[in-house]
Amino acid sequence: MALWYATDKSFKIIELHADSPAKPDYGAACNGCGICCAASPCPVAFAFLFQFKGKCRALLWQEESRRYVCGMVVYPDRYVRLIPPRWREGSGQFFATRIAAGAGCDFAAEIDDLPEDPA
Ligand code: SF4
Ligand code: SF4
Repeated sequence: MALWYATDKSFKIIELHADSPAKPDYGAACNGCGICCAASPCPVAFAFLFQFKGKCRALLWQEESRRYVCGMVVYPDRYVRLIPPRWREGSGQFFATRIAAGAGCDFAAEIDDLPEDPA
């Protein structure tokens, strides 16, 4: 599913799973729509994944819950080779605090379907 989003600074086309939920209002509970992480990486991705633009490679679609989750929270050892699997839970909790998981939606943008190609 292709969407476009616009902030006061820019607009961009992003690709998300066709069944991903619609973005809630700014400040409402996060529903895992994935739009913020598809738009640009967060500081955790900057610091630990060395990713500075584009869709975050740790953005993970979960079929069971029909939502996106942060791979750095659920499987950090898959993304950072220096993290051993036995540290998965503890380091995932650390990253959850770094991304303010559980807080309200902090991504302010207008979202819309990509217009049909008129050609
Ligand atoms: S913070 Fe907002 S935009 Fe990001 S996944 Fe949650 S609901 Fe979607
Ligand atoms: S590290 Fe997690 S919270 Fe940050 S952009 Fe990537 S998927 Fe989103």
